[in-house]
Amino acid sequence: MTAADEDFTQPVYNESDVERRYIDDKTVAVLGYGSQGHAHAQNLADSGVDVVVGLREGSSSRSAAEADGLRVATPKQAAREADVVSVLVPDTVQPSVFEAIEPELDAGDTLQFAHGFNIHYGQIEPPEDVDVTMIAPKSPGHLVRRNYEADEGTPALLAVYQDATGDARDEALAYADGIGCTRAGVLETTFQEETESDLFGEQAVLCGGVTSLVKHGYETLVDNGYSPEMAYFEVLNELKLIVDLMYEGGNTEMWDSVSDTAEYGGLTRGDEIVDEDVRENMEEVLEEVQNGEFAREWIAENQAGRPSYRQRRQAEQNHDIEAVGERLRGLFAWADEPEVEQEPEVS
Ligand code: NAD
Ligand code: MG
Ligand code: MG
Ligand code: MG
Ligand code: MG
Repeated sequence: MTAADEDFTQPVYNESDVERRYIDDKTVAVLGYGSQGHAHAQNLADSGVDVVVGLREGSSSRSAAEADGLRVATPKQAAREADVVSVLVPDTVQPSVFEAIEPELDAGDTLQFAHGFNIHYGQIEPPEDVDVTMIAPKSPGHLVRRNYEADEGTPALLAVYQDATGDARDEALAYADGIGCTRAGVLETTFQEETESDLFGEQAVLCGGVTSLVKHGYETLVDNGYSPEMAYFEVLNELKLIVDLMYEGGNTEMWDSVSDTAEYGGLTRGDEIVDEDVRENMEEVLEEVQNGEFAREWIAENQAGRPSYRQRRQAEQNHDIEAVGERLRGLFAWADEPEVEQEPEVS
């Protein structure tokens, strides 16, 4: 295989790097039929790969998979007949599903993931004689499916954790091709890099950092006598417009599009708000991701029935900005018809 583009710091694979024989004669078990599962299963089947969907007896997803023309079995049965087992149930239930399917893994089979958490933090310890790989599309499953149907691609990450057969990378790339990702580009990474950068990104910037920034901005305005409605518009509603510009053309396009006043104010005041202390906090959060502290905490939280998760979630829902937002969003009738299905893009 050759790297598609030497301008990148890591290999980027495309359709010309794929040998489909690595997947074409194989049976793929897709465990789970949620966001990623439904897309991988249907795209692979439409690409001519033999697919069996693994779902529990009584799972409400069973009828959906069958209605889409797919064969359904229990995870154990599906793993028994498969050469490649794609583990697309929620990360928190993967260890128990793995326990059920482990006896069905033959030497040379593949365990395939879309996120590295359970392998990287040792929650799943695969047998030594199977390949362990990752194909992680960088988008929600519904877009993976929609792009495929439109003859377009979705970028994905590829990683090889264990290469028992010597074919692990080629097979993973052929799988990525089967779900349409090589049309866009497949970047190689490692389970460690994908897992740690994903957790850090969602905690420090995407989910945790940005909601905290918005709440502090809102509270600062409201505590100083500005109306909640104005505060909501200025620090939350307009965020979408800014992020859309950044998504399209980076920070440069955003700075080019806002007024010179906004640009000067942002350039001079931004680093005063998110300053060296915030950077130090980020280093601490990253360290807890790297040393496994966050993973241990989250695993223990799940084992305890998620008491802290539930309490924090409730507090977030009770914040004033939520009630103001709900009233104001009612004014945007046109916002009820989203262009893209509303799904978390952050996994
Ligand atoms: P999901 O929550 O959308 O779907 C989970 C599916 O698993 C459902 O069909 C559910 O019925 C089934 N399921 C739940 N418990 C089960 C059990 N005990 N046994 C068998 N089936 C069970 O999951 P998802 O968001 O598609 O996540 C799957 C994997 O993909 C995860 O590793 C996730 O990190 C990764 N990922 C998700 C996204 C995303 O945008 N959602 C993006 C990239 C990677
Ligand atoms: Mg098998
Ligand atoms: Mg991510
Ligand atoms: Mg403004
Ligand atoms: Mg994630």
